[in-house]
Amino acid sequence: MKPRDCRATVAAVRWLTPEVVEVDLSVTEPADFRFEAGQWISVPFGPKIVRAWSMASAPNRKGPITLSVDVAPGGIGSQWLRALEPGAPVEFKGPNGGFVFTRADPRRALFVAEEIGIVPIRSILTELYETGYGRPAALIFWARDPGWLIYDAEFRSLARRYPSFSYFPVAREAPADWRSDRGEPHEAVDRLVHAVEGLVVYVCGGAETIRRAREVLVEKGMDRKSVRWEKFW
Ligand SMILES: Cc1cc2nc3c(=O)[nH]c(=O)nc-3n(C[C@H](O)[C@H](O)[C@H](O)COP(=O)(O)OP(=O)(O)OC[C@H]3O[C@@H](n4cnc5c(N)ncnc54)[C@H](O)[C@@H]3O)c2cc1C
Repeated sequence: MKPRDCRATVAAVRWLTPEVVEVDLSVTEPADFRFEAGQWISVPFGPKIVRAWSMASAPNRKGPITLSVDVAPGGIGSQWLRALEPGAPVEFKGPNGGFVFTRADPRRALFVAEEIGIVPIRSILTELYETGYGRPAALIFWARDPGWLIYDAEFRSLARRYPSFSYFPVAREAPADWRSDRGEPHEAVDRLVHAVEGLVVYVCGGAETIRRAREVLVEKGMDRKSVRWEKFW
């Protein structure tokens, strides 16, 4: 699908945490707007100034598309999102991007997300499991503390319902009663990945996390091309 000029209306705004907001957009033009899980839209803020946001919702869901954004960076995009209210018109271009999952790929899939980097992965995993993907997949989801693990409850529920899905939440700092993993994202990848044969990895987050995760995997013998990534910052 080629990116197209699109128009939408804000259908709802939900704050998931003090700094992460979900925005539902009802796309009015084109009426047949579609995207693949993992893709993003771009919103213009002036000549040559755009901000990209991935779809958090799954493409198989009818109705509005959902963006999920960390507004802590505080730049032009964050300020605009903070002020959005239901009914506001939005123009964007999309869908864009190739951070999409190939269902026919016979390899085991591992997803690695750093904080808000979970957004395209949430779309991919939601679609996969809602549409009967029965094969093994795992998610390593890292955040500075458990409060930044947005959608954590959803992934725990997914792991309970689908034994083929393994979920590993990891926090740098956590209260004493935190029963899951602690540390940095690449350390978790190092600890949790035992064999790289027949594995494909999707990493999303900041450049440093992508670089370090890939380094760990390549050291274990993984082919660089089998590490797919989307750099948010
Ligand atoms: C393909 C793509 C998809 C993206 N999808 C999402 C998404 O779904 N949700 C989302 O929140 N952001 C997403 N981003 C980042 C988004 O485009 C903006 O950069 C972000 O919303 C901040 O915008 P801003 O104008 O407030 O600050 P900017 O001026 O864009 O950024 C200010 C500084 O903060 C850095 N930065 C941006 N985001 C973060 C972050 N979360 N944590 C730490 N540093 C950061 C930037 O690199 C820059 O140095 C995506 C980026 C790309 C390239």
